[in-house]
Amino acid sequence: MGDQNLTNDTEKPPSGSLAWVDSEEPPSLKTGTLGNTGGRAVSFLPFEFIIENRKKSFHRAFSLHPGTDKFVRDFFPGTAPEEWTNWKWQLANRIKGYTELDRFLKLTEAERRYFKGDLEYQPLSITPYYLSLINPALPEDPIRKMVVPTIDETVVAGNESIDPLGEDEDSPVPGIIHRYADRVLFLVTNFCSTFCRYCTRTRLVVCREDSLKARERWQRCIDYIARHRKIRDVLVSGGDPLTLSDNAVNWLLSGLRAIPHVEIIRIGTKVPAVLPFRITASLKNILRKYHPLYINIHFSHPGELTGEAKTACTMLADAGIPLGSQTVLLAGVNDDVATMTALMHGLLQVRVKPYYLYQCDLVPGTGHFRTPVSRGLEIMRGLRGHTSGLAVPTYVIDAPHGGGKIPMLPEYVCAETENGYHFRNYMGREIVYPHK
Ligand code: SF4
Repeated sequence: MGDQNLTNDTEKPPSGSLAWVDSEEPPSLKTGTLGNTGGRAVSFLPFEFIIENRKKSFHRAFSLHPGTDKFVRDFFPGTAPEEWTNWKWQLANRIKGYTELDRFLKLTEAERRYFKGDLEYQPLSITPYYLSLINPALPEDPIRKMVVPTIDETVVAGNESIDPLGEDEDSPVPGIIHRYADRVLFLVTNFCSTFCRYCTRTRLVVCREDSLKARERWQRCIDYIARHRKIRDVLVSGGDPLTLSDNAVNWLLSGLRAIPHVEIIRIGTKVPAVLPFRITASLKNILRKYHPLYINIHFSHPGELTGEAKTACTMLADAGIPLGSQTVLLAGVNDDVATMTALMHGLLQVRVKPYYLYQCDLVPGTGHFRTPVSRGLEIMRGLRGHTSGLAVPTYVIDAPHGGGKIPMLPEYVCAETENGYHFRNYMGREIVYPHK
């Protein structure tokens, strides 16, 4: 498979659109200075103007989150909107350390203590966009909890494991997890733009691989898939595959699509939630060439469903890509019926079908995120029957040591008698249904 530029970039931004910045090159991962304008003069246009301009001009343009204007003025003065909405700018200006973070948020004592002492830290990485969604006045802000570490992360329970799903045992070649005969997990990158504090693959999500080495590794993975004819379904994940360059995404998907027995390709990503500007016209045109292609997006809180995220999802859905969501049940973030219902309803409005609700895996230092299983069942009971079935995900525990996903269902059947099954409906009313 050649490594030429295969990007089909026929859909250009409309003339004068300030919202549209596309990319061909892999993103520079050098950390920029805060407020960095890349050493060139930028003409600053008020964000209100841009929002208004976008509303008028182009349906795919990103409308900016209401807090964005103030956030950019306060912390990235002089940054032009076309920089802010450029995914590479967002990557280059990620917040990666205590000093930077302390500038944006008044850190709580629990957050500060995490950075003190001689601990081995998990990486910190937050895009400026995602950080701007946090209400700095609220220490309990749910988005803050998902990405800002606290001292609680240093508490590791005996039943937690660095590889809680036993993935490494089922890895015949680096990057492939082959547990079930008909499908594989293809881990294409270690990199994520924003690091979730509860990440199951904390052991892997650290840094970006050298691109040449990555392509050699990917080729070995593709060769493995090609040799195993029973594999009909490839889940491309990581890290976040959509943080790769357009060329890399194209290279990977064309390699997989060339394998006759690969029926479907799925991509797992959090990009629409944390880096929505990555969903460009160019990327969309690449993705749509490889149908049947499915994308599952990691959304955890209704606060992530901003105008920018909605635009990203709409673009993917308009490219004919069926979208599903994956949500991790997190204490203090989304572990109540009202929040979960709002999230599921919001997802359906942007054409994302709620797919899985995961019990938080037994990752070291995540005990403060885990709810009792009974809480998850209570939330499922609060969804089923109370809202459309389309809005109800499947609650699963990904069983430790490679046990696979176990669906968790509230108990509806009360008894079985000669009259049939006795069960309670969503309102608690007892009903009897005959045996057949
Ligand atoms: S997006 Fe997924 S892989 Fe990346 S840090 Fe979050 S949970 Fe981990």
